[in-house]
Amino acid sequence: MTFLLPPLDIPTTLQMIVAASFTMAAALAAMGPQQRDGISLWALALVLHGGAFALFVLRGQAPDWASIVLGNALLAGTLALLLGAVQQFHARPLPWMAMGLPVLGQALLATLLLDDYRWRLAGINVVLTLQTAAVLWALWFPQRPQPARGAVLVTLGLAPHTLLLAVRAGWVAWYGAPNQGLLQSGTTQGVTFLTSYVVIILASLGFVLMTKDRVDAANRRLATTDALTGVANRRALIQALDRDMALALRTQEPYAVMMLDLDHFKNVNDRHGHLAGDQVLCHVAGVLRQRLRAQDMVGRYGGEEFLVLMPCTAAAGALEAAQALRQAVEQSPCPYGGQTIPITVSIGVCASPLAPGDSWDQLIHVADQALYSAKQAGRNRVAWAPLPRHAGPETLPNTEF
Ligand code: GH3
Ligand code: MG
Ligand code: MG
Repeated sequence: MTFLLPPLDIPTTLQMIVAASFTMAAALAAMGPQQRDGISLWALALVLHGGAFALFVLRGQAPDWASIVLGNALLAGTLALLLGAVQQFHARPLPWMAMGLPVLGQALLATLLLDDYRWRLAGINVVLTLQTAAVLWALWFPQRPQPARGAVLVTLGLAPHTLLLAVRAGWVAWYGAPNQGLLQSGTTQGVTFLTSYVVIILASLGFVLMTKDRVDAANRRLATTDALTGVANRRALIQALDRDMALALRTQEPYAVMMLDLDHFKNVNDRHGHLAGDQVLCHVAGVLRQRLRAQDMVGRYGGEEFLVLMPCTAAAGALEAAQALRQAVEQSPCPYGGQTIPITVSIGVCASPLAPGDSWDQLIHVADQALYSAKQAGRNRVAWAPLPRHAGPETLPNTEF
């Protein structure tokens, strides 16, 4: 048979696999052993992989029980740990049976078929195919990793290898094994080990990417969420307000914001304690979230102040919404330690068509002034103010100024 490229020297290739496995394992282990995202199990899998191939290189020199039986058991152990790593990434329990049985099976198979290279190779490849398929299945089902790019890399590494193992199992069962044994150069031997090498790099980097993407998403969420109430924080609110205002200017739609402030909140803290105060803030955030339209956004602007952004909303609509929120809060006292804490809010609304040059801080400033009027007028009220250059709308709903 002629090769376009010279055939790979198998012992050298196996040693490259050993080196790549141990190097990648060390790099992954350095990422942090305390994370419960599967990285440590993946690193351990690579250690077993390196160990398995180190034993394969010693075929003929080391006793068969080590190079054949232990080597193949370690290879099955590699895939068992990859399955465990994927399960751990998805926060599912480790499937001990699905992980342990193939390792025992592989050791048994290798022992029983020690002198039968053809059927040993076929059997071992069948088990490895099933194990790799299980890893891929666990990766994508029942829940798909989001974003998917890391999982796609893992799949690009593992899937062709699975296919190759399956084809090889069928080929060997049907036509018999090559006579030369494991360490002799040959096309299938070369391609199989070359893909093993690619799997280590591609699949491991893919898995690292999966964990990195998840940590990044969690950090993004943290950076834009208020830790106590779970609604948007001030930074996210201002970003959204800035973006919404540019859009409202382009589309000539009116825009409204409400500033809500809990009435006499200091008394809640003084009477019931700071924890009760925290609970009240969470409760109010929940009421607001429940009552708002899908396009509105609520966030915690400061201590006990919430800001609501209402795109495409004119003054009349904004005031109606504000009255509805005020009533909803008044009618939902906060349960705390077997009692209920009554709460009311005062709301300042700024609603206006926008003009070039209007800025987010102007809107907030005007809403704040309206809020101040509502407080002055006795609290548990809604007050409205336009941006300075605008006159008020002709008719407004009854708004307890
Ligand atoms: P007003 O009706 O005029 O708004 O009176 P108020 O008591 O609500 O306003 P004031 O500004 O006097 O007090 C606000 C209080 O909110 C004081 C502060 O300790 C409390 N506060 C701010 N942030 C938090 C928080 O995260 N948790 C708790 N429990 N209290 C908070
Ligand atoms: Mg207050
Ligand atoms: Mg306040």
